Amino acid sequence: MRDKAPSFFNGISFQLAKIGIILAFVLSFLLSSVQLYLDFLNQEKELESLIDRVVKVATPPAVRSVSTLDDELSYEVVNGLLRYGFIYEVVIYDDTGNVLAQGSSTRPEVKTRWLTSKITDNTPGVNRLTQLPAQRKDELAQLIASSNQLLDVVELSLAKRRAVELALRKSEEHLRQIIDHLPVMIGARNIAGYYLFANKALATELGYTPEQMRNLHVRQLLKNSVFDIDTMLQNDYRVIRGNEELDVVEERFVTATGKQLFLQTHIMPLAFYDEKVALIVSVDITERKNAQAKMEFMAHHDALTGLPNRVQLVERLEHELRRAERHGYFGAVLFIDLDQFKTINDSLGHPVGDRVLEVVASRLQQSVREEDLVARLSGDEFVVVLTVLDQNIETAALRAGEISEKIRSIISQPYMYDSMELRVTCSVGVVVYPDKNNSVHELLRYADTAMYQVKEKGRDSIEFFNEEMADKVSRQLTMEGDLHRALEEGHFQLYYQPKIDIKSNRVVGAEALLRWHHPTKGMVSPVEFIPVLETSGMIIEVGQWVLEDACKTLVKWHLSGLWQEGMRLSINISPRQFRRVAFVDDVIATLEKYQIPKDSLDMEITEGIVIQRVDDAIATMTTLSGHGISFSLDDFGTGYSSISYLKRLPVSTLKIDRGFVRDIIEDRNDRVLVETIITMGRLLDMELVAEGVEEEEQLAILKSFGCDYYQGYLSSQPIPIERFETFLGKK
Ligand code: C2E
Ligand code: CA
Ligand code: CA
Repeated sequence: MRDKAPSFFNGISFQLAKIGIILAFVLSFLLSSVQLYLDFLNQEKELESLIDRVVKVATPPAVRSVSTLDDELSYEVVNGLLRYGFIYEVVIYDDTGNVLAQGSSTRPEVKTRWLTSKITDNTPGVNRLTQLPAQRKDELAQLIASSNQLLDVVELSLAKRRAVELALRKSEEHLRQIIDHLPVMIGARNIAGYYLFANKALATELGYTPEQMRNLHVRQLLKNSVFDIDTMLQNDYRVIRGNEELDVVEERFVTATGKQLFLQTHIMPLAFYDEKVALIVSVDITERKNAQAKMEFMAHHDALTGLPNRVQLVERLEHELRRAERHGYFGAVLFIDLDQFKTINDSLGHPVGDRVLEVVASRLQQSVREEDLVARLSGDEFVVVLTVLDQNIETAALRAGEISEKIRSIISQPYMYDSMELRVTCSVGVVVYPDKNNSVHELLRYADTAMYQVKEKGRDSIEFFNEEMADKVSRQLTMEGDLHRALEEGHFQLYYQPKIDIKSNRVVGAEALLRWHHPTKGMVSPVEFIPVLETSGMIIEVGQWVLEDACKTLVKWHLSGLWQEGMRLSINISPRQFRRVAFVDDVIATLEKYQIPKDSLDMEITEGIVIQRVDDAIATMTTLSGHGISFSLDDFGTGYSSISYLKRLPVSTLKIDRGFVRDIIEDRNDRVLVETIITMGRLLDMELVAEGVEEEEQLAILKSFGCDYYQGYLSSQPIPIERFETFLGKK
């Protein structure tokens, strides 16, 4: 039975009882937990409604205490509230944030205080909460883990912010450095005229550092640098208040060292921190301005003598003419040309020529008054303007004559060069101004005409422009107008005179001669109008027309079979045309335009063209020879006829001047001369053409001398193209 006793605990009743107790225990625990939870929910709701009520009750007196600033009332509110067990601290602020009343009750020690304080601790380098043992997975562990995560995020973003701040400071510094190194002056001024900012360039020019300049007033800073500070301040005002940008194209600026600069300034509005200021950027344009001034000077002055040039002469003379008219006095224009200056240049070289011109310039300046004007037009041409001579025209003319005479004698004093004594004379043309309706250009032209009159009469003298000259000039002007129209309306025409081989009597070519059919005057001789074309410069256009017309004709004749191989058509080239720089290019372009037969074009030039600039002339002729153009020397025998330069020239033909041929029968001298020319030409391997042959007897003599070709009325006058074509066809 002893066995039965311990078996009681294994007995079914006991087991049932045990289960029953455990079940009851578990159930009661569950039920009490549910009850606890329900109580908690109830409590929470109750607490919330209690807080609500408390706030509702406490708010009106609190608000009242704030609006009436009633201290007692506010303390009552504070104390009343503290009586609630769950309120530990009460503070009443007014609307500006000042504490009106404050009170607190001691708070019971709470286990979680350390947590709160750790979370709210916001010093940098936050400490992390101590992790709970890893097996803890409860709410507190989770709370700690997520708090630590939060702290990580906070710290990361703080670090980021510090990095951004650092980068910002760095980039600000870089910007500052860049601005300091810019070669422009940069500054910012506020509306009161104080500098808030200046870069190094600006500060240095003013003798400060950028830091020193800050908060200094422009009146103090710039009193020795800027001449119109008031305008400057007004500009700032306009920019800041009007919110517009301004340009100051050029302003004078003196640096701390006293150096004068020219600045170009741009002013614009800028928000500088919380202020609207004027940002001023200035560029130093001193060098540009100096270069400009130099160019200006060069445009108005002659480089060699430093005298005013034609541009300035015309400007000042225009002004002077108006002034004389307004004030009723007379002045004079003197056109001075050195006599045979070219011989100095050619025989002694350009350096000597230049030296003489310089001395002439200074002598001219010394022989006139301060208010007079001495200008150099070109080469050896000078103009002197004598201002305010007299109110009476005769007296003025007399005075002009006296001064001109003085100038002439001063110029003809000897010039010393390397212990060499040179003598130069001059020709002076004088015109008194103002005259009825003349312009500066007319005036200069009159003086020029008078000067030419001196040259024609034998140089080294003075001539006044007179009525007769005026007539000549006005005729010339009328003719110029007519010639313009002639070119536009096609009144020019080429006539052709055949060139004949003396031995075979065959046509070997022709000379094209210009004709002008004047609408009222009929045929006008080229002897009359070519000089007008030359002086007016129209010869360039007309010469081009001649070249083109001749080329067209050559092409036409070539196609119709009239023009045989080896035949040449000559055109006359005037000096002004030949000397032009673009001449070669124009001719080549024309040759490219018209495909004329090979080696069919010849150009007649005179010795005068060649003698002045032999090297240039040779270069032009050589280039054109390369394009199949041959050259003839026209009117040979009337000029220099120096064998030494003839040898150097790429000329294939000499044309014996009509004047020698004319008298060849009666005049023994001419006969000898013509024979000499022919002999010389043959020696130089040149072809010879006799011009103006009218009689068989003349031709016989020329033939006996060995002349190759001739032109003249004997075979044909110059004839229009149709007749010439018939002539060619018959031969
Ligand atoms: P030039 O080059 O000496 O031309 C020859 C001149 O002599 C031509 O005068 C011609 O008509 C004339 N003539 C020809 N045979 C005889 C003759 O047997 N007896 C006489 N007494 N005279 C004769 P034109 O046509 O009046 O030309 C005069 C000058 O005009 C030319 O002299 C030339 O220097 C110039 N000229 C003519 N056409 C042109 C041209 O197209 N351009 C240029 N720049 N000058 C030209
Ligand atoms: Ca000719
Ligand atoms: Ca001739």
